[in-house]
Amino acid sequence: MTNVRDILTKYWGYTSFKPMQEEIINSVLNGKDTVALLPTGGGKSLCFQVPALAMEGICIVVSPLVALMGDQVNALKERGIKALKLTGGISFDELNTLLDNALYGNYKFLYLSPERLQQEIVQNYIKQMNVNLIAVDEAHCISQWGNDFRPAYKNITLLREIHPLIPVIALTATATPEVLEDTISELKMELPAVFKNSFVRENLSYQVFKEEDKLYKAEQLLKTNKGSAIVYVRNRKSTIEISEQLNSLGISATFFHGGISAKEKAQKLQSWRSGTFSTMVATNAFGMGIDHPNVRFVIHLQIPESLESYFQEAGRAGRDGDFATAVLLYNEYDKIYVKQQFVESLPSTSELKKIYRTLNNYFQIPYGEGEFTKHNFGFSEFCKKYNLNTLLAYNALNSLDRLAIIQLSQEFGRKSIVQFLISSEEVLQYFEKDLTASVIGKTILRIYGGIFEMPTSVNLDLIVSKTGQSIETVIAVLRKMERDQVVEMMLQITDATLTFLVPREDDKTINVISREVEALNRKKIAQVNSVLSYIENTKTCRSVQLVSYFGEKIARKCGICSVCRTQNSKLSNREMQHLATKILALLEGGDLSSREISEKLTFAETDILKMLRLLMDADKLKINPKNQYYLN
Ligand code: ADP
Repeated sequence: MTNVRDILTKYWGYTSFKPMQEEIINSVLNGKDTVALLPTGGGKSLCFQVPALAMEGICIVVSPLVALMGDQVNALKERGIKALKLTGGISFDELNTLLDNALYGNYKFLYLSPERLQQEIVQNYIKQMNVNLIAVDEAHCISQWGNDFRPAYKNITLLREIHPLIPVIALTATATPEVLEDTISELKMELPAVFKNSFVRENLSYQVFKEEDKLYKAEQLLKTNKGSAIVYVRNRKSTIEISEQLNSLGISATFFHGGISAKEKAQKLQSWRSGTFSTMVATNAFGMGIDHPNVRFVIHLQIPESLESYFQEAGRAGRDGDFATAVLLYNEYDKIYVKQQFVESLPSTSELKKIYRTLNNYFQIPYGEGEFTKHNFGFSEFCKKYNLNTLLAYNALNSLDRLAIIQLSQEFGRKSIVQFLISSEEVLQYFEKDLTASVIGKTILRIYGGIFEMPTSVNLDLIVSKTGQSIETVIAVLRKMERDQVVEMMLQITDATLTFLVPREDDKTINVISREVEALNRKKIAQVNSVLSYIENTKTCRSVQLVSYFGEKIARKCGICSVCRTQNSKLSNREMQHLATKILALLEGGDLSSREISEKLTFAETDILKMLRLLMDADKLKINPKNQYYLN
């Protein structure tokens, strides 16, 4: 075993560990099941990567997101460490080769999605591997009490069964005490050593403002912003609208939501990271795995559904350690809306029973049957046919999915995942023999540039309109290409596919889960109430409110949140300097009154006035007859 500090320096060039990293690494090296609870940016990856490098064998890493896996594997490869990943869309032959490599090729890391663990071939290979550590990234996804519940995470216990003596390390940044306990028990961890670093973010100023014109306030804030920003909004449509509005106000913005293709997401992420666009307007789909250090502002134009999500989303600001601001803007209507959206539309047991029965009737499932049958499912058509409240129906279906009564795959629009299995030269040769395939295939290649690299979500309607062919022809051509092993694809021509996981027994089916449904509903209501209390509590430091929600008993007032600022206008030296720089930078753009300056900054008005006086005393500023300040 090599010294862990040597490993840190050799591969990463760092000379010291971040808080808790060394303790966590030593715990793993001592063979203990370990939980690493570090805030975003706390350096979780190294907590399993360093010990895995210190031991013989291979580390299996379960991770929820393909993009996250890709980033980590690439980062390891760049450091000369052998790592590979099993993502979706790889052909069976390829899977075999990759697993062979993992087994015989001296690889140190094998990343996979939890779904992969279901495959027998994957299990068989892992059985033969000399596994040194099982790392579970975003471990809270195993808990149905958390917001990111992923049923497939339950497969992780299979790894435990295959290698019972190998330690497990669970890593997460979100854990209320309840979710943490559940995560530990679901992962079947044996008396784990739990390491938790404080969730206090000293450089992050949490601010909450009641604003009638939220966009105006956001505009004022963003205009002072020198780094990147994220603006979280309610839904997909708003991402587009708000991003357009910001652009027309002179703020370079783009948008991101769950409905855009993987390729487009990658492009947008890249152009935001590189600074082409300063502001990303997004739904909460813009989340896990976004590792961008230079975010100065995270602005919520909506009330988030839980403090867990809020803390994570706000926490994307200031990962570089420099001063950053997380602003939540709301008005009275938002408070009503969040209740309507998340509380009043929670399906009760009797509503679930009704929707479940309706669903079975819709698909004409006979009593006692239907188990493991898969159906194409048009959600809006279903709601229209039975005159259902769409939000309630949507939540009911999601609950049924969560509780493993049905399984929903959501792929809105006529989208299909396509991956090319042969090289671009071979594809072009193939096209020479088939004119229709050539027209359709080349159009796909033209629109989706990176399709040779990864499975890509292809919008069939777009192909129809670009080629002038009918949808039937487009599908037939893709099917033929699939038979000829040119592409592999998952065709989805309706909103979603729905699989019934249990036989139909109407009320009885739902009675079994009714306690869980009610517990989940109570939990949801409590979460929304916690957010509303957070907003309304203007007495307790915002940082103290947040970290005590996450179980931290002793927390100091941060001094920089909107509550502390109003209560205590004495700013730290660093804060004063920051404020002075901001004011001077603003005035470079022209003369401004104190009110205009206040509107553009997130500091308390008293502090701004005080600073203006100081700057005048220091002869840096002057005031004109219109009571506007200007640079001396
Ligand atoms: P998390 O997953 O906890 O959000 P990461 O593992 O992505 O955090 O690490 C955040 C950043 O901190 C990365 O850029 C990483 O390289 C860096 N980092 C991790 N450990 C150290 C260390 N000991 N010294 C300096 N930087 C580190």
